[in-house]
Amino acid sequence: MVARFDIVIIGGGLSGAALALALRDTAWRVAVVEPNPPADIPSPASGGGWGEAPGEGNWDARVYAYSPGNVAWLQTLGAWDATVRNQPVYAMRIVGDAGGHLAFDALDAGLPELAFIAESNRLHHALWQGLQAANNIESIGTATASVTWGAAEHELVLAGGRRLQAGLLVGADGANSWLRNQANIGLTVEDYRHVGVVANFETERPHRGIAYQWFRDDGVLAYLPLPGKRISIVWSTTPDRAEALKALPADEFTSRVAEAGRHSLGALRPVTPPQGFPLKRRRAEDWVRPGLVLIGDAAHTVHPLAGQGINLGFRDVRLLAESLRDAHLAPGDIGRLKAYALRRDEDVSSVQFVTGGLKKLFASDETLLRWLRNTGMTMTDGQTWLKQALMRHAIQ
Ligand SMILES: Cc1cc2nc3c(=O)[nH]c(=O)nc-3n(C[C@H](O)[C@H](O)[C@H](O)COP(=O)(O)OP(=O)(O)OC[C@H]3O[C@@H](n4cnc5c(N)ncnc54)[C@H](O)[C@@H]3O)c2cc1C
Repeated sequence: MVARFDIVIIGGGLSGAALALALRDTAWRVAVVEPNPPADIPSPASGGGWGEAPGEGNWDARVYAYSPGNVAWLQTLGAWDATVRNQPVYAMRIVGDAGGHLAFDALDAGLPELAFIAESNRLHHALWQGLQAANNIESIGTATASVTWGAAEHELVLAGGRRLQAGLLVGADGANSWLRNQANIGLTVEDYRHVGVVANFETERPHRGIAYQWFRDDGVLAYLPLPGKRISIVWSTTPDRAEALKALPADEFTSRVAEAGRHSLGALRPVTPPQGFPLKRRRAEDWVRPGLVLIGDAAHTVHPLAGQGINLGFRDVRLLAESLRDAHLAPGDIGRLKAYALRRDEDVSSVQFVTGGLKKLFASDETLLRWLRNTGMTMTDGQTWLKQALMRHAIQ
């Protein structure tokens, strides 16, 4: 027997789960196929593991910056709830590798905050809880096995043999998308030759909601403020250096991070062990086909130095969900999907261009480029209108 849905979302990570939730209470019957649904969030009684204080629950090392526009939208979905521990960012300090500096302050642009920092697992869990309560959504915890492409409907076979038919398949299955491969959609890949080393720390001094970023000879180090006297770091550096950092004893790794951050927040105490994520820019050659759309990391990935990966994914979801509100057209109508892809192109292309360009600009050892990038940074700092324009783009 075949189960019929209007829309089947393959992958229930942040992008896929958010899309499903945004389609709650629509006319569409929706399924989300996710073999690894989020685990329950740790109870407050847990913790006390790798440097954690008992009574506060563990801290996820996957911590992201979310734009205020996306947070406001997640609030309308009911997913940015009290379980999502978060820290508003009021200011950002960026430091070059030869005296360049750039500061952004929310107040200067008349904004309450520039971003919010929160753990991935808690937001994922809140999204998932929301969609469990929806009448028109079924979540299926099975892996995919095969897909057959039809003229009006596609058929998906799951591990174990269950068959699903749908007018629209959504690939939200991450950077190595299974659906993208099944559809033979090509991929442009640029290996940044960087690994993002992430870890959480407690700080001696309060961060006052300030995020820091240092462009260094060996990569980019970011301090993202977490609730309380805690930060999450992303140190994007060459694979060799990342391996060497991860291999250090905890106290040595901690003092390297404090030193690279110029002891801005005093002494650090490690809360989670370091983890490394290889960084690549990817872009699928097509985001849409008849009855098929790729969103989030399945469609595009970027260097995390601008904290934009899942923000792009959520902006995909916001636009696609808005387009799917029109129930007069079939969900997989190619005109609808092409209009969606066209409208997403500028945002994704500009973020890929800027993050890739910055990474390259700061990776060069040439004296002239070093001078240029640091001077450019400081000059930008003097241009209030330019900084306000940059902030207004980043908050969407
Ligand atoms: C070091 C680092 C720091 C980052 N910091 C930021 C930041 O500050 N701000 C920001 O916006 N972004 C950031 N990002 C990017 C962000 O992590 C990603 O953009 C985001 O997690 C992508 O979400 P997604 O749901 O599209 O894909 P994923 O999170 O990869 O989810 C894909 C889902 O699909 C499922 N799946 C896979 N294959 C199948 C299949 N065959 N069938 C069914 N399901 C399947 C998987 O189980 C998974 O749950 C960062 C990334 C890194 C590496």
